[in-house]
Amino acid sequence: MIEDLESMLCAATGYDAMSLQPNAGSQGEYAGLLAIRGYHESRGDEHRTVCLIPSSAHGTNPASAQMCGMDVVVVKCDDQGNVDVSDLQDKVATHSKNLAAIMVTYPSTHGVFEERITEICEIVHDHGGQVYIDGANLNAMVGVCQPGKFGGDVSHLNLHKTFCIPHGGGGPGVGPIGVGAHLEPFLPKEHEGGSRRGAQVSAAPYGSASILPISWMYIRMMGRVGLKQATEVAILNANYMANRLQDHFQVLYTGANGRVAHECILDVRPIKDDAGISVDDIAKRLIDFGFHAPTMSFPVAGTLMIEPTESESKAELDRFCDAMIAIKQEVEQVVNGQFPLEDNPLVHAPHTAAVVTADNWGRAYSRSQAAYPVTTSRENKYWPPVGRLDNVFGDRNLICSCPSMANYET
Ligand SMILES: *Cc1c(COP(=O)(O)O)cnc(C)c1O
Repeated sequence: MIEDLESMLCAATGYDAMSLQPNAGSQGEYAGLLAIRGYHESRGDEHRTVCLIPSSAHGTNPASAQMCGMDVVVVKCDDQGNVDVSDLQDKVATHSKNLAAIMVTYPSTHGVFEERITEICEIVHDHGGQVYIDGANLNAMVGVCQPGKFGGDVSHLNLHKTFCIPHGGGGPGVGPIGVGAHLEPFLPKEHEGGSRRGAQVSAAPYGSASILPISWMYIRMMGRVGLKQATEVAILNANYMANRLQDHFQVLYTGANGRVAHECILDVRPIKDDAGISVDDIAKRLIDFGFHAPTMSFPVAGTLMIEPTESESKAELDRFCDAMIAIKQEVEQVVNGQFPLEDNPLVHAPHTAAVVTADNWGRAYSRSQAAYPVTTSRENKYWPPVGRLDNVFGDRNLICSCPSMANYET
């Protein structure tokens, strides 16, 4: 089953070999960069240690490069969120002799299909560097394009992002890496008789082996046609939401045709500037509508990144858009002076049942606006158990709540 899964993932990505050993995308990055390092060393190129990383990258990319003893050189992005190719050319020329690799994410973390990706890969190859394509966004590629074919030498996949391994609770995950044939000798593998080859990144030969049947079943049940359709629907859903929300919020980055990939960044920073309402206020208010907020302040601080995936129904996408539009109307109520900045449904969100049903209310807005901001919430209301927390204080002050044995003594 494991071998079967490896070959199905090779078919999806266009790579020649796959290792299921890494337990997370980040561990896959580490394994992939070790493979690149091993490859350079095998050719007497020990001095190739420079790793180019665009400023749009996920934070794990520079962390992995540093753990592999590589020197990180940042490549700029342009105003559209794409890799700045002329800056890339400069950096590649400067570091040509010592160039180990580029780590580039496609489609990018900015939620756009980088149009010059093939050219970017060629530039790096021309200078003897290897191309690491971060495959965390493979949900926008399966059945449509293959990183192993448009210039990647190695990629990690996140089976817990693209191939149905449940997220949450801190794992376990699976971050397999696919490689071209020239990197296969450096792939972490176990061979007959248990001998290991390649840079080992986990004690277990097949990482999180017990959950691999989930991805195997998913691929078998979806089939070639179903997987492609899932990708297309994920992209369609993101564009549907971007389109519905664009009159109310600014979509930060789009491609040449005004489209996004499988996710989009809503720029709510102008709302902070104009109305004093922060991304935190919007995220907390979403709880009153029954939503967990989307990714906040990543990859751009003060913004929201929305990735609806292929799994949500149109009704659910609309419910989310309706909530965001209602929140924008509340922002307008602050801007036009109907509610003061320090007393409105956004800055006081989320609203617990205890707060809404208390004998004293005394706020500038009504109880029903607090608890039932849209009519659908009357039928299906989620009540948050706690009100607003001071996130930063909580993050900086870890408090152990394990009382000592003495507290149990009577
Ligand atoms: C999620 C993600 C990673 C890291 O993957 P983990 O499985 O969380 O370690 C790396 N790069 C990108 C672009 C990601 O989105």
